[in-house]
Amino acid sequence: LSNRPTPELAASELEALDRRHVLHPHQRSQRSERRVIVRGQGSTVWDANGRKLLDALGGGIWVAQVGHGRAELAEAAAEQAGQLAQFTGFFEYGNDKSIRLAERLAALAPANINRTYFTCGGSEGVDTAIKLARLFHHRRGEPDRNWIIARHFGYHGATYGSGTATGIPDMQVAVGPNLPNVEKVMPPYPYHMEMYGGQNPTDFLINELSQTIERLGARNIAAMIGEPVLGGGGVIPPPDDYWPRVRKLLREHGILLIADEVITAFGRTGTWFDSEPRGMSPDIITVAKGITSGYAPLGAVMVDDEIVETVTGGEHSFFHGYTYSGHPLACAVALANLDLLEKEGLLERSLAIGARFRTGLAPAAEIPVVGDIRVVGATVGIELVVNRETREGVSMDLALAVADDLYETHNVITRNYGPTLVLSPPLVFTDQETDRTSAAIVEVLRRVDLAAGRIAPR
Ligand code: PLP
Repeated sequence: LSNRPTPELAASELEALDRRHVLHPHQRSQRSERRVIVRGQGSTVWDANGRKLLDALGGGIWVAQVGHGRAELAEAAAEQAGQLAQFTGFFEYGNDKSIRLAERLAALAPANINRTYFTCGGSEGVDTAIKLARLFHHRRGEPDRNWIIARHFGYHGATYGSGTATGIPDMQVAVGPNLPNVEKVMPPYPYHMEMYGGQNPTDFLINELSQTIERLGARNIAAMIGEPVLGGGGVIPPPDDYWPRVRKLLREHGILLIADEVITAFGRTGTWFDSEPRGMSPDIITVAKGITSGYAPLGAVMVDDEIVETVTGGEHSFFHGYTYSGHPLACAVALANLDLLEKEGLLERSLAIGARFRTGLAPAAEIPVVGDIRVVGATVGIELVVNRETREGVSMDLALAVADDLYETHNVITRNYGPTLVLSPPLVFTDQETDRTSAAIVEVLRRVDLAAGRIAPR
């Protein structure tokens, strides 16, 4: 046991071991420093040096809805580990916690969605949703319907299926053939009207989608996938008429709609599921992250009744399984997490956090580097630009430097997605923590020296 790394090791030792032994998700080139987080309570986390930090990212991004260190969730996990940590949902087996969670999700979901397939996270969920959509059409006697329409700037995960649907080319470069038959269309991005050649963005996008359907042939298209609000693309809400018009067009052509709610569900935007108020009326909803507030890895694919009946009806089997699908411990934690979200009114709290950020960040609107401030419930995107006229984004290095400065000078954890600084604090973020984050951001952005492409010292 003696050489097992534990949090008791010095920070420098942990960092050295990390460099030697860990290949990180979305690892950039080897940065010399890595911040090792070892403990959390509420919206505060501590690194291995004992440094206290305000987590405005929510446990690594859009995850920790109920905050860190919640005894209720630790107890739910411990109790379930003692009772039954794992029993597969394969074959003729099931377990009580996944059944209760599926029942609970059905009660929260739109009326047509009553069945859930559990995964370990969002990427697996998106892959499952793509398979279900293709299988649905196959079973109905339209096997050629296998194209998937996704969107540029969308983020759907890192597996081959979800990674191909992701609209960030870096995900697909140099890793061999990606998933075939995935087509991308433009998303709504109201701050960048130049993308739409002076047209109303929704008109432009509906026209582009119609042409895409015509080009591929409607009878070859299984589904379209989209986030209600683009998350990793930079927290970009669509115009109100976008999803209703997309939905109508898809329905006319028998194309399914998959709402990827891995970020937006469970209160992040102030509702259980964001796709309903946005008029998506999806056939499949994928969720993860906030379903357990990150206390256990869990995702869920919530599926329309007709799709389930068609895919598994008669003698048909759905030959697609993960060992940990419906993991009892993860499902027990999710049930306790949903209790907390409900009991503590965290969906409403999400909207209050957003309103407070709007006020607190208002002074940032005057700072030259700030192009656009977008607040959707308790998530915020601040798009940083080198020029407010052209709306050209700052370099990745400068955006990263802003997040680094917030960490170094204010002990506030944020991060950039491209040129956009993103916040997604726990939904237990207090007014004082919200104001502190806003003030820190305004202070750092005021020090951005655009001419020099750097941040002036404090
Ligand atoms: N879908 C969306 C909208 C996401 O934001 C993410 C992750 O950030 C995923 C899917 C992938 O989820 P996971 O990282 O749990 O595989």
